[in-house]
Amino acid sequence: MKNKERYVFLECTECRNRNYTTGKRVRAEYKLEKKKYCRFCRGHKVHKEKKV
Ligand SMILES: [Zn+2]
Repeated sequence: MKNKERYVFLECTECRNRNYTTGKRVRAEYKLEKKKYCRFCRGHKVHKEKKV
């Protein structure tokens, strides 16, 4: 079987809106942190992963 993936939210660190979901390997130890566009802040902000 392939590596299992689960879904996590990417939450804007400024307005706390969960703007994105993304797949992540279950075994992965690292925390996802991505700079993405937030339509609430109207700019690129750091988004951190949150569990679904
Ligand atoms: Zn935001």
